[in-house]
Amino acid sequence: MKKDFDIAIVGGGPAGSTAANLLSQAGLSVIILEKEQFPRPHVGESLLPFCYDIFQKLGVLEEMEKRFSRKPGAIFCDKNNDAATTYCFKHVVENPKHLSFHVRRDEFDLMLLETAETKGAVVCQNTRVLNTNLNEDIATLNCKSEKGSFDIRCKFVLDASGRDGLIARQNNWRTPSPDLDRIAFHSYWTFKTTPTDIKLGMIRIIYLDDEKKGWIWCIPVAEDKISIGLVVDQKSLGQERKKYKGSNWQQDFYMHEIFSSNYLKSELADAERDDKIWVNGDYSYSSKTKYGTNFSMIGDSGQFIDPIFSSGVFIAMKSAELVAEVLPNYLNSSDIKILDKVYSTISDGYETVGELINLYYNPNILDFSSVGNHNDINNERYDEFKSAYSLLHYLLAGDFFERGHIYKNFFKELKDGRKFERWQNLVNWESNESGVFHSKNENCL
Ligand SMILES: Cc1cc2nc3c(=O)[nH]c(=O)nc-3n(C[C@H](O)[C@H](O)[C@H](O)COP(=O)(O)OP(=O)(O)OC[C@H]3O[C@@H](n4cnc5c(N)ncnc54)[C@H](O)[C@@H]3O)c2cc1C
Repeated sequence: MKKDFDIAIVGGGPAGSTAANLLSQAGLSVIILEKEQFPRPHVGESLLPFCYDIFQKLGVLEEMEKRFSRKPGAIFCDKNNDAATTYCFKHVVENPKHLSFHVRRDEFDLMLLETAETKGAVVCQNTRVLNTNLNEDIATLNCKSEKGSFDIRCKFVLDASGRDGLIARQNNWRTPSPDLDRIAFHSYWTFKTTPTDIKLGMIRIIYLDDEKKGWIWCIPVAEDKISIGLVVDQKSLGQERKKYKGSNWQQDFYMHEIFSSNYLKSELADAERDDKIWVNGDYSYSSKTKYGTNFSMIGDSGQFIDPIFSSGVFIAMKSAELVAEVLPNYLNSSDIKILDKVYSTISDGYETVGELINLYYNPNILDFSSVGNHNDINNERYDEFKSAYSLLHYLLAGDFFERGHIYKNFFKELKDGRKFERWQNLVNWESNESGVFHSKNENCL
């Protein structure tokens, strides 16, 4: 096998495959080194409408439409669904792009990896990168596969190793975000008869309470299957843990919390759970350094924040796209300002999502469940709510990177506790500009 490449990518998840696809299309020689054999399971199944353009660039949109279930929006509610607010993406995205996707990640990631290969990238699965030497002009990756150890040499390394964060860990650059120290438990439920609510395809986020600082996700990954995840604060878990004995405590805790919601109790009456409970800890972190002269981090490898707004896959793919766009130019010029600029954009994106997350965990400022409380989306108040919260809708659809300055004002207004009218003015301007006022009798599809 050839051992010298322009770009070597560690990890073949959404970030790695996106970068490999686009850089191969740009004519560079690219290798992906992936420690697993795909398809492999992965958490993170609910995507955002803003992924659409990237799917088009990668050449996978048609496949996406054939294979995966559609996601017209999100519902935020409290434990028993007494307060519930529906956010239809269609309100601000006025074309087919408003219908996002829920994916089975084993299948989705395999599709992206294979597509990258068809664009010209060399893909080595079952190949773990053990070490990187980034001190020379030509970087070296020390790899291990079933066939033994070997080195790959390249001009530039893209670290897309996800939450393993290869380069950040090797250099002790990773710092945790103590405020977002959470842990997630999830499993899959299969319905005999799928409830209408689930069939609509909305992701549902159920707020637990202030103490647990937690929430539950319900993601309809297939016609008859739903992924249900429980997210709680690590500190409160420490207390809860004492109530459970034996090796099955994680399952017992998960089941107890899920069924403490009357809404889920009734929705899941006809559903059966898989045996396995998946656990994901080590929640939110950031790497102090994210790029250097011959490497950079894309996707989760450099930073990860609470997945409440289904932002992970989009940020992974977008960061890969932004870096891939400038790399050919950077390799010619070695002008580090090119990377400075891209990483400033990426950092703004994370900051916007971070603000949104803080807002969610402070329901006193804005309660996502009760802000447009209604269970009938055709009533008059709903129309009023939609106009006022266009900005929130844009954010929930994934508008993290382009218009940070508008959102900075929005968050400031909310934190100041100013009146609803003030927010409405702010939002009206946005709505007028893009003409997104809507008639009453629409639904999310
Ligand atoms: C509980 C939870 C729920 C989530 N829910 C959502 C959601 O609903 N929607 C959403 O968009 N996001 C969600 N996310 C986030 C999402 O999972 C990630 O943001 C996304 O997968 C990041 O993609 P990536 O390519 O950066 O990393 P990954 O998808 O993790 O891919 C990294 C790849 O690198 C490989 N690798 C690692 N180390 C090495 C090595 N040394 N050598 C070779 N290969 C290596 C791994 O095997 C892996 O295949 C969630 C995350 C968590 C924890």
